[in-house]
Amino acid sequence: MEECRMLIDGKWVKSENTITSINPATEEVIGTIYCASKEQVEEAVNAAEKASRKWSELSLWKRAKYLKNMATLMKGKAEEIKKLITIEMGRPLFESRIEVSETAGMTNDLAEEGKAYLAGETLPIDSSIYPNKISFTIREPVGVVGIIKPWNFPLQLPMWAIAAALLAGNTIVFKPSELTPFVGAEIGKIAQEVELPPGVFNVIHGDGTVGGMLVQSNVDMISFTGSAEVGKKIMQNSANKLHKLSLELGGNDPFIVLPTADTEEAVNAAAWGRFTNCGQVCTSPKRIIVLEEIADTFVDNLVKKVSQLKIGNGLDPATDIGPMVSSDQRNKLISQVEDAAKLGATIKLGGKVPPNLAKGYFYEPTIITNVNKKMKVVNEEVFGPVATIITARTTEEAVEIANNTRYGLGASIWTQNLDDIMNLMQKIEAGMIWINEINTAYTNGPWGGVKESGMGRELGREGVLEYTTLKHINVDYGKNKTRPWWFPYKKE
Ligand code: NAD
Repeated sequence: MEECRMLIDGKWVKSENTITSINPATEEVIGTIYCASKEQVEEAVNAAEKASRKWSELSLWKRAKYLKNMATLMKGKAEEIKKLITIEMGRPLFESRIEVSETAGMTNDLAEEGKAYLAGETLPIDSSIYPNKISFTIREPVGVVGIIKPWNFPLQLPMWAIAAALLAGNTIVFKPSELTPFVGAEIGKIAQEVELPPGVFNVIHGDGTVGGMLVQSNVDMISFTGSAEVGKKIMQNSANKLHKLSLELGGNDPFIVLPTADTEEAVNAAAWGRFTNCGQVCTSPKRIIVLEEIADTFVDNLVKKVSQLKIGNGLDPATDIGPMVSSDQRNKLISQVEDAAKLGATIKLGGKVPPNLAKGYFYEPTIITNVNKKMKVVNEEVFGPVATIITARTTEEAVEIANNTRYGLGASIWTQNLDDIMNLMQKIEAGMIWINEINTAYTNGPWGGVKESGMGRELGREGVLEYTTLKHINVDYGKNKTRPWWFPYKKE
């Protein structure tokens, strides 16, 4: 059995407290994970603090070079990493390969493009009041960033934050999800192999308790991606330290299909968008809202398409849909579908654990219609292979349904009509809108949500600036200065 240690101050360390990592397709134990004690969390934060000044003073170009080397190494290890992702969290190898190559590409691009994002600005100043003055801003690193991430894109999501934070001159204590610690540790190995100085990048393991300790520690910022519930706890728990926070939280994204859409493409997009990664994607179309007049055809075609998907172990190249990540996640999904059935929904496809797959946390790709607002499949985030279809009478009603959620992460709109595009993209409450597209992310495109989907952005200029603080500099270069507002005051 393999073991997964923590990287603290450049050394791979063990601990007393251990958990196991499970392959969700076979329920076999992958290995033992050493989880951090409170002292080890503090050690990691102290190591990051100690390494902070030197790292922030290193030339930006040199920091970018480390990232480029990490990207190259990631590409070189792609086969190994993609297998690890599939074994640890279940996604099909095809998807894992894309995750690795996209992440390497983004890390490389960020190292190139991100340098320019760190520019400050020179500010106009009223020279009649302030002669001989220049006022400008510079960007500085926040300090030590605690990075806490989920399991659903175990390489990509951490690296969005890690690459931006390192580039901006921060040092890091990273806690991967307890469900994907081996992939998290792999990032630590890559950091070591490119010879990042000890302490610049630390990895600690554990569940929410360890995450909580990191939140309560002396880090300067927490970069969190995960559920809204945990995001709220983090905000509360970091209040006494006033940490800077970036919170990328859950979603209940609408996917609106109007009669003017290319419906064949919309069906294909809904099938891939909803069922890729076994439906465990923050921006997957969780509520598919279809206009009444095309609803029956849309549902029939979606059922046809999804019925053809092959469910199985992600290591089998024929697999389209792997297992869910854990039995807890599957149990939650089962209770959401049961609730819908009890309240009168129609299960058009699936709706159960596949009888032929006794081992593994599999769940049949499921399509549900005849739903209403009281059902959990509508008002909760459904993080699994379940497509919930809601029918709307008019475009206005579709918008109303789309916005009737506490979340506001992404939204996808399907129509060829320009007026509808312009109208809906403004009315939908979301941080990201895809028009005739679904689930794409670019290195230079800001990623994040509104409402309870969080605050702050990853990727893009905003995503890099998230890991900086702004310093305003005032310079007075004149001689023989007088300032009428200094002492002595004029006696009037
Ligand atoms: P989660 O909130 O349960 O856990 C996320 C991370 O937080 C894990 O590392 C976990 O160990 C840690 N954690 C748990 N309790 C904690 C606490 N009290 N203090 C500090 N850390 C704690 O989420 P998950 O199940 O890992 O991921 C699924 C969720 O993530 C979904 O809601 C999904 O929508 C969301 N997500 C959002 C985005 C985005 O970009 N907005 C991307 C991916 C996933």
